[in-house]
Amino acid sequence: MTSRDTAATKAPREAEHFDVLIVGSGISGVGAAYHLKEQCPEKSFLVLEGLESFGGTWLMHTYPGIRSDSDLYTFGYRFKPWTGPPIATGEEILSYMGEVIDENDLAPHIRYGHHISKASWSSEENLWTLEATRKGEGPRGDEAVRFTANFLWMCQGYYRHSEGYTPEWEGVEDFAGEIVHPQTWPEDLDYKGKHVLVIGSGATAATLVPAIAGDCSHVTLLQRSPTYFIPGRNENELADQLRELEIDETWIHEITRRKILHDQHMITKLSFEQPEFVKEELLKGVREYLGPDYDMDTHFTPNYRPWRQRIAFVPDGDIFKGIASGKATVVTDHIDRFTEKGILLESGKTLEADIIVTATGFNLSVLGDIDFVIDGKPLDFAETLTYRGMMFTGVPNMLWIFGYFRASWTLRVDLLGDFVCRLLHRMDEKGVNRVTPVPRPEDIDLPRLSWMDPENFNPGYVMRKMHLLPKRLDKPEWQHTQDYWSEKTDIPAIDLDDEVFLYE
Ligand SMILES: Cc1cc2nc3c(=O)[nH]c(=O)nc-3n(C[C@H](O)[C@H](O)[C@H](O)COP(=O)(O)OP(=O)(O)OC[C@H]3O[C@@H](n4cnc5c(N)ncnc54)[C@H](O)[C@@H]3O)c2cc1C
Repeated sequence: MTSRDTAATKAPREAEHFDVLIVGSGISGVGAAYHLKEQCPEKSFLVLEGLESFGGTWLMHTYPGIRSDSDLYTFGYRFKPWTGPPIATGEEILSYMGEVIDENDLAPHIRYGHHISKASWSSEENLWTLEATRKGEGPRGDEAVRFTANFLWMCQGYYRHSEGYTPEWEGVEDFAGEIVHPQTWPEDLDYKGKHVLVIGSGATAATLVPAIAGDCSHVTLLQRSPTYFIPGRNENELADQLRELEIDETWIHEITRRKILHDQHMITKLSFEQPEFVKEELLKGVREYLGPDYDMDTHFTPNYRPWRQRIAFVPDGDIFKGIASGKATVVTDHIDRFTEKGILLESGKTLEADIIVTATGFNLSVLGDIDFVIDGKPLDFAETLTYRGMMFTGVPNMLWIFGYFRASWTLRVDLLGDFVCRLLHRMDEKGVNRVTPVPRPEDIDLPRLSWMDPENFNPGYVMRKMHLLPKRLDKPEWQHTQDYWSEKTDIPAIDLDDEVFLYE
């Protein structure tokens, strides 16, 4: 039996106890489980997952062409070499994660079909209690189950899987065709020979358009405003050369990661120091595919500084090739309303379509939509302060993995994996049961700012729900800096005896 087939094992009705409970078996939860098993073999732990298998994002997204937008040398874990082309399909990422589970015997530690609805902390018992619904088959049906743990490791991602974000548009009900969100792509959607209109300008739209363009009669990409892309070949020259020299894959993985991260660091720094230069270089890459006569200004010249939103890598410039060949068209305009046949734009133009795909983003979900209760009081996360975007004031023994946007998410999974294991060991050495982050006296009265500085990074789904997220202070320690290059030295160097950690 492979790990993907591993079904939920039976849980008793009374609470089952583990040293650590991990919520979610996406790339974060599987990484967390690996690190716990490797670095804290003495700890008992369990991963609870609402879905029927692992993968999270990569299991739920099934639209045509689903693939990573960053390279797998860095989106993969540091401990498991990636051996394929840098940009991977959803299927390839799932099989990579499946290998991690199988090779490290993690399957017995994961229970699928467990949706967690409530997490309560008791300071009297120094214990988290998780209430979950276990999906059941047959007459027994769903069952309420409970788990307790000393430490809660939240790996539930950052957006609601059940439903993507769709803005409210006038006249949607008038449209006679089908409306589809990529997050809930119908398995049997027949787009062959149809005119498909994709609304959106992000990585999803850029992936979907080339994937379906060959089968549709035409694809129109409708965007409100342009986005940056990095087109390039889906290969890594250095990795390929090292392979030719028959270097061990473990080394190739590490060396290639370092090279990619080094180059990304340079580009990120440059985008702050010389934004106009970086902008020009990015636009040049796109122009090469579209030719000198294409209206780059209207469709591919964003009005924000590079890196304020995630920049998607476009393997082999496939979307641009589709546009250049005439199979796909880009329209940059605003929607006035939906009509029976398509969309009326603010410019007065109309776009006709048989199918409209709303690639309009995510619904941010704060901590898995779980009701958190601390000592009998409902917790409002927006009232807490975040310690490095991973722990929260007033919330003991809990850590959330929120990865990077400017670098691969998973880099933070490994960094925080080391941190949690170090913290758990330090707690054991100290003989304490509880750790909570507390601001230093001199920091207590600093202004509390929103989770993310919109000047630094401003994706729509974070902006829409910022009011629900914990607050930050204007200090690297008290915010998620989104800066892998400083955190890669800062996080391993965190002094666990610092006064910001209150041990009890
Ligand atoms: C299409 C797409 C492409 C992306 N490409 C990249 C990329 O190339 N590079 C990159 O760095 N990032 C990328 N991202 C961002 C991506 O989401 C993260 O990198 C990463 O996959 C998130 O992993 P995760 O494990 O933290 O969360 P998720 O993948 O969201 O997994 C969370 C898991 O927790 C479970 N869960 C949540 N709440 C509960 C609950 N209450 N009870 C039980 N289980 C629960 C969910 O079912 C899910 O399985 C992409 C995102 C999307 C949507």
